[in-house]
Amino acid sequence: MTIKKFSPEELLALDKFAVDEGKPHILVDNKYCAKCEIKPCLLVCPARCYRLKDGNVSFEYAGCLECGTCRVVCKDGGVTSWNYPRATFGVTFRCS
Ligand code: SF4
Ligand code: SF4
Repeated sequence: MTIKKFSPEELLALDKFAVDEGKPHILVDNKYCAKCEIKPCLLVCPARCYRLKDGNVSFEYAGCLECGTCRVVCKDGGVTSWNYPRATFGVTFRCS
């Protein structure tokens, strides 16, 4: 039996997302982000939901893997609300 190795990008591409349009499960207020010097969310989010655009942090919840890392590392108040998506929404992890 051979075990196929996947890159992180290949594994992420297997996941399915049911996006709860208009109802983000994570809220980010980037007025706090402007004062956040290190901006760890840009480095730690495995789905790259946080990006720097024109010097401002932007957040897109649609590809969130629900790992909770941004909630833990955000010490400057930018993540104002963090919840799991409502039932039937969010990520479904798949192996193949
Ligand atoms: S860690 Fe929090 S406050 Fe800092 S840039 Fe990210 S979301 Fe904004
Ligand atoms: S919960 Fe995880 S995947 Fe979702 S935005 Fe936060 S760090 Fe990224």
